[in-house]
Amino acid sequence: MIVILLGPPGVGKGTQGKLLCEAEGYEHVSTGDLLRSARREGTPLGLEAKGFMDRGELVPDEIIVGMVREKLQELGPERDVVFDGFPRTVPQAEALSRELNRIGRKVTRVVVMNAEDPILVRRLSGRRSCPECGTVYNVYSSPPEVEGICDKCGAELVHRKDDDPATVQNRLDVYRKQTAPLISYYERKPTVPVVEVDGAQDVDDVQTALRAALQERK
Ligand code: AMP
Repeated sequence: MIVILLGPPGVGKGTQGKLLCEAEGYEHVSTGDLLRSARREGTPLGLEAKGFMDRGELVPDEIIVGMVREKLQELGPERDVVFDGFPRTVPQAEALSRELNRIGRKVTRVVVMNAEDPILVRRLSGRRSCPECGTVYNVYSSPPEVEGICDKCGAELVHRKDDDPATVQNRLDVYRKQTAPLISYYERKPTVPVVEVDGAQDVDDVQTALRAALQERK
């Protein structure tokens, strides 16, 4: 299983990807999470990515592709993987198929998640995440038990800098210009089934729809 979760920021790729992977034992590979942990560790890659991320721009393809290649090597050729936030450009998609080809695999499904902008903006403005364990909350829909504190590890929650309103608008524009074209890119490939899931529903309903979309015969 090589699944790609494709959709705008705030649509729920991270939440849904994590739920699916926890239940099924798949590996959740989020390039955003990998970059954030590189930044926390202060690695050269993390330092290079910082400016792009804070402005809501895409990190250059070479950096992302190298990072994913390394991750795939670490996981080995047989692991089931759910990609979240990758690929985000056509060159990244092409690099992914080359990497998969090399190990005799291919993308099994592209799941396109969608929701209207006001929903995305509200979700991103309410998002709080734990810098220690990565758990994500939302002050409107899934708040922590104690305001500002992670239920799981007690760390202080943060509002991602790139979830500020101005940066969010930029990220939505970047999604439309650079990432949304991947939908028709994959639709043109006869061997890659593309399915749609309505990301505006609540968390459990999206998860049910996502699982159904993965079962569907195409
Ligand atoms: P995310 O957590 O997926 O919203 O990603 C946060 C930020 O990390 C994005 O706004 C980009 O700056 C960067 N990023 C994550 N994944 C990619 C990718 N596949 N290509 C380029 N930049 C990325």
